[in-house]
This record gives sequence, structure tokens and C-alpha cells, in this order.
Amino acid sequence: MKKDQFGSVNRRQFIRGLGLGAGLLTLGKIDLAQAALLPKAKRSEKFNVVVIGTGLTGMAAALAAQNAGAKVAVLEKVSEKEVGGNSRLAGGLIAVTRDGSQAAKDEYYEDFMKKSSGKGNAALSRVLANQSLDAVNWLKEQGAELTDPMTVAGYRVKSVVFKPGAYKGMPKGLETLRGKLTKKGGKIFYETKAKQLILGESGAVIGVRASDAAGLKDYLADAVVIATGGYGGNREMLETFVDPNADEMMLRGAKTATGDGLHMAREAGAMWVNMGGMASVHVAAVSPKNTAAGNPFMAVAYTLGINKDGKRYVDESLGYVANGKAAMKQPGQTVALVFDEEIKKKPGVAASIKQFEGLGIDIVQADTIGELAAKIGVPAASLEKTIADFNAAVKDEKAPDAQPAKAAFAYKVSAPKFYAFYPLSPGITLTFGGIRINEKAQALEADGKAIPGLYAAGECAGGLYYEDYIGGASLANCLVMGRIAGQQAATAKAPVKKGKEKKN
Ligand SMILES: Cc1cc2nc3c(=O)[nH]c(=O)nc-3n(C[C@H](O)[C@H](O)[C@H](O)COP(=O)(O)OP(=O)(O)OC[C@H]3O[C@@H](n4cnc5c(N)ncnc54)[C@H](O)[C@@H]3O)c2cc1C
Repeated sequence: MKKDQFGSVNRRQFIRGLGLGAGLLTLGKIDLAQAALLPKAKRSEKFNVVVIGTGLTGMAAALAAQNAGAKVAVLEKVSEKEVGGNSRLAGGLIAVTRDGSQAAKDEYYEDFMKKSSGKGNAALSRVLANQSLDAVNWLKEQGAELTDPMTVAGYRVKSVVFKPGAYKGMPKGLETLRGKLTKKGGKIFYETKAKQLILGESGAVIGVRASDAAGLKDYLADAVVIATGGYGGNREMLETFVDPNADEMMLRGAKTATGDGLHMAREAGAMWVNMGGMASVHVAAVSPKNTAAGNPFMAVAYTLGINKDGKRYVDESLGYVANGKAAMKQPGQTVALVFDEEIKKKPGVAASIKQFEGLGIDIVQADTIGELAAKIGVPAASLEKTIADFNAAVKDEKAPDAQPAKAAFAYKVSAPKFYAFYPLSPGITLTFGGIRINEKAQALEADGKAIPGLYAAGECAGGLYYEDYIGGASLANCLVMGRIAGQQAATAKAPVKKGKEKKN
């Protein structure tokens, strides 16, 4: 489903309802009793901008706001040791344009729209295309260390990675950003859970009511940025919005991704987008030994996906998300990615092997296909036939007549030794649905009106992707839209002139 949810109640109706003070009154799907639960806090502190969440989005927003002269507070529900949500666990790839030319920006935009089958948010995709490279350069100015742009198989977008490389750089990168913020006076309040937004008489968002060990505290602000991440860790939300069985999937991401920001925004009248069905989640087939980093995403396109019946089940050239979703429907939800000695030399495959070796996860190897079949627990005759049929269909690196067809990266599997990434099972990485925002990262009502003082960005904001995304697209979104949210929030009662960001 690609439409807004809960279109029946707008923000003004909601605020009017609150004014009635009717504890149990419900308007449509919004439960006023829930929103009215918390009393005014006895403690309060005033800032220009309050950001909720210390992932890449939150840190980009906080630094951008601070650089624009705002007094900034960041609220984080977990301890300093556990900070960073999905960002901390991420591979660290950020999708960027190959250079600053208009042609490169157009290619990036087209790649994004193609990957979401034309159903992703075109305006936001355009913002990312226009600003990704600039935002990455800005991130470097904030102290983050990133590699040079690298090729992403099958796309024209490039990606940079937090140094020293995939699945290694995020914790340190985020620590650097937190250090930069606090050194310049920004405050981070750990073990402080944002519970609800505070609305002023005009209907604008004027702060966050949060709880810590001492009880409730009101963090008053000219503007609030929600950067709380997605809802992959909220089993009930997955079951309700994605699939009745989605709660059984392995979770690759952070348990902190419980959709808190989505609920707070909705209670303030914001709409949600792209919440429905499997099109709203990112799934990858990963090693159960390490569900976060045990993801051979760079290899998938070159290999053959094989299920427990010894058969192919997907066009592997579509990439690792398509493979992950297809793996969900295979017997036992367990699959293998099979390749041979020649395919092993492809850079994406070699990189994934290195990654697995670094994690201490063995790659299955065998001298014959029959031996490989035994090791990955599939019928030998079936696997031999699958591979023979596939090899016969390969022509010019394509296999349009194979079952299923493979549109690109089709190579014969015939040179011993034979290998497999195995076992791999589907795990949920991130969620694509969330708060509806515009190009300024303002949270929107159902009729498209911006809620004054409320910004949202990163994984908690929805609509940019549909069904699939290009590796690196989410962190690009967090960085670009988080930075915009911070810049915009800082202008809510502009402490410095609009558009003038202080360089540090
Ligand atoms: C294993 C894995 C690998 C990935 N690799 C990549 C990759 O290489 N490239 C890419 O583009 N994407 C990748 N992703 C996706 C990407 O990491 C996330 O989409 C992105 O990091 C989300 O960032 P965020 O800042 O929006 O949210 P998060 O990073 O999840 O941060 C949200 C923060 O908000 C805090 N929070 C939540 N609720 C509250 C509350 N009520 N009060 C206070 N604090 C709260 C959380 O504790 C958390 O610290 C990966 C995801 C996973 C799980």
C-alpha cells in the first residue's frame, strides 16, 4: 500500500479534542487517553532545537542546527554504551553521486526511482540526488572519515563507506560526531526517553516530554527533530502493518527501533506513509551466526540462489533485498548462494568472502557439485540439473531463458572448486514506512500542511523507498535529510541569519 494511513483525523481536530480533556475520548484511530496520559513535568529546560535520537540522522541534525547557531539538546533513550540504533550496526555505506555534475545527479535520481519501481517519493529522491555529495563532504568537515566513492554493482550511484570499511566504521564515526557536538556546547541526555511532543496553544510543537531515572522532564524548544529510527524491533507493528507472520523474521537491526517517533508524531497530527505490506520493509538473507554483518550483499548478483530443493528461486541480479524477500518464501526459509572458482574472483564476491572470513563464518567448499549439494543439504541430482540448465542458458552475461531468468551478471558455474554462502535466512534490516515529510523535512498533516516546529528525518520518515532500495540509500537519506532537518529547525526562531551556517 502506498497511501497515507489514518487520514480520518487532522491535527486541528486532534488538538480540539485534547482541549476537551476527555480522558477516554477517541477520534478515529487516535486514542486521546494515550496522548493525555502524562502530566506536565516539574523539571524543564529550554533549548532552540531538541533532537530525539543519536543515530546518523540525529547527529547530522544536531550538528547542522548547532553550526547554524542553535542551542541543541539530543535525547537518547539508551545509555552512552548502547547509543546509535541501526546506524551503529550498519555497514556504513552512503550512496553518493559519482561527481557534482547534473548528469550524475540525474543518474542517481533515476537509479533511485527505478529501484522503487517509480513509487518512491520523487521530490525526496531529487533532494538526495542534488545534495548527497555535498552532504558527504560536510560530514567529513564534521570529522567523519570516509573512503573514496566505490562502484555499487548494477547501479550508476557510487558509495562511500565509513573507514576502515564495511561493518567496521560506524561506532567510531558516530562517536566522533557526538564528540564534535558536545565539544561545541551541545548536550546529549542519555537514558532519557522521549514520551510525547508538547504542543503550544497555536498548535505548534514546542518541546518534548521525556522520562529519565528522576522522572519526567520537559525539554522546551523552538523546534523538535524526530530521528528515532524505524520500527523493525516492534513485533506488533510488523504484524499489524507488514504481514501477520512478519514478527517471526530475524531482526538484523537494533532493538531500539520500536517506532516511538512515529507514534509521537501521529499523536501530534502527522501522517504516516508506505506502512503497508512487504513493500515497506528491507529484508536480507543473512548468516544466522551474525545477522547484522553476515550479509554477503556485494556477492548476491554474481551467484546462484539455491533453495532446499536444489532449485533457483530469484533473479539474483536484482540484488540482495530481492533475494532476501524471495528467500522468505523458500522451504525452511534457508537458502545458499552458490558460485565457482571463476566467480570467486569477482570483486563483489571476493569482498564478501573477506567479510565472512573476518567474522569467522566459514564458506562451504567442495570439489564437485554433488559434494557441495551434500554439504548444503540439497538433493545432488536436483542441484546438478539446476546448474546444468542454468549454464546452458547463459549468453553474453545474461540468462533470459533460465528458470527464473537472470537479467545480468550471469556466469556459468563450471570451474571447480564450488562454493556457497550457507546457510542464509531472511532477517529484517530496516523499515521503509514512516512519518510523511516534505523536502524541508517538515512533518506533514494529511492535507499536506506542515506542522509548525516539527521535523522528522531518517528511518522514521517514510515514503522514499518502495519494495527495495540501493545499498547505501538509507544512510544517504539520514545524512541529507537529517542535515536539512537541523538547518531548518535552527531557523524556527533563527538565532543567526537564515542560510548562514557557521563553519567550524
Ligand atoms: C545490519 C544493518 C546494516 C545496515 N547497513 C546499511 C548501510 O550500509 N547503508 C545504508 O544506507 N543503510 C544501512 N542500514 C540501514 C541504516 O543503518 C538505518 O536505516 C539508519 O542507520 C537509520 O538511522 P536513524 O538515525 O534514522 O535511526 P537509528 O540509527 O536507528 O537511531 C535512532 C536512535 O533513536 C533512539 N530512540 C528511539 N526512540 C527513542 C525515544 N523515544 N527517545 C529517545 N531516543 C530514542 C534510539 O535508541 C537510537 O539511538 C543497515 C541497517 C542494519 C540493521
